[in-house]
Amino acid sequence: MKKIFSIFVALLIGCGAYAQKDCIRADYSVTLTDGKPEVTFSGFEADGLWSGLNMATSDGVFRFVLTDKKTGKTVYSYSFNSLFGEWCDTDLAKTEKKVFLEAVRFPRPKKNSVAELFMKNASGEYEKIFEKEVCPDSLEVKLTRKVKGYKHKINIAVVPEGYDKDEMADFLSDADRLTNAISEYEPFKTYKKKFCFRMVLKPCSSGFSYYTFGMERYLMTDNFQAVCKAASEGGFPWDFVIVLVNNQQYGGGGIYNFYASVSAKNQSAKEILVHEFGHSFANLADEYDEYDQTKVTDCMMCRLDRDYCPVCKENIKNVIKKLFK
Ligand SMILES: [Zn+2]
Repeated sequence: MKKIFSIFVALLIGCGAYAQKDCIRADYSVTLTDGKPEVTFSGFEADGLWSGLNMATSDGVFRFVLTDKKTGKTVYSYSFNSLFGEWCDTDLAKTEKKVFLEAVRFPRPKKNSVAELFMKNASGEYEKIFEKEVCPDSLEVKLTRKVKGYKHKINIAVVPEGYDKDEMADFLSDADRLTNAISEYEPFKTYKKKFCFRMVLKPCSSGFSYYTFGMERYLMTDNFQAVCKAASEGGFPWDFVIVLVNNQQYGGGGIYNFYASVSAKNQSAKEILVHEFGHSFANLADEYDEYDQTKVTDCMMCRLDRDYCPVCKENIKNVIKKLFK
């Protein structure tokens, strides 16, 4: 009887681990060679729980598609931008060679599938740049602990960059202050209960630095894999990442379905984060004119002392709705 009971318990534990669907991350490096993207696959990683949101909320430079190998049916797809994508549009890319460590994340398929990555070409059409078969059974499920309260939520991992082990209390207070700022702006305020910010309480170093692509305030890292690993260190599922950099110098950045960063100690950190989160969450564009600074639109995506304009508010609202579709 005892033996049967043990088997029953083991089965229950086994089922439990699989009942919470997990996430797979495909790591790759990408560089521009003779004007063409060149992708090198690095490997698949089990990346914790999958929260179940539909991340296909807007059209980015890249499109990821997961297809069932046998039926050819699309299992999952989403779109995103990346730092490599931005690099391709810079003048630097014409003379310099730079390698970016990037990744895509997707729910573990039930059967063998094909992962495909597309990038928009000069005429705006998606062109396949990479393909790899996914054999879900060959990859071990690694779930460190049971997590509750993440379903039907927008889960955001907040990562401490450059905070020491003994500075976690300081990080927590920065994280509270800055993430609360997001919910002060509409439509985030209305949907406040849909958002779940979780802080990673482990020191992280993903290589963030100022002067990205020669722009002093562009505080980014070309290692998105390190950002993903840092976010997953928290042991909870995440859909978006915010990186708080322990620095006072004005800076930050935000890329759609990639990450948002901010120098947490700067006096404008709240507003910078709300602006950058607009990019990373809803694919909002900068509304300032790079060449004519006198052209001011009445929007947070142009000047930090403004609210989001009605168009941006509508876009954010649509993204929130699509995430739950
Ligand atoms: Zn706007």
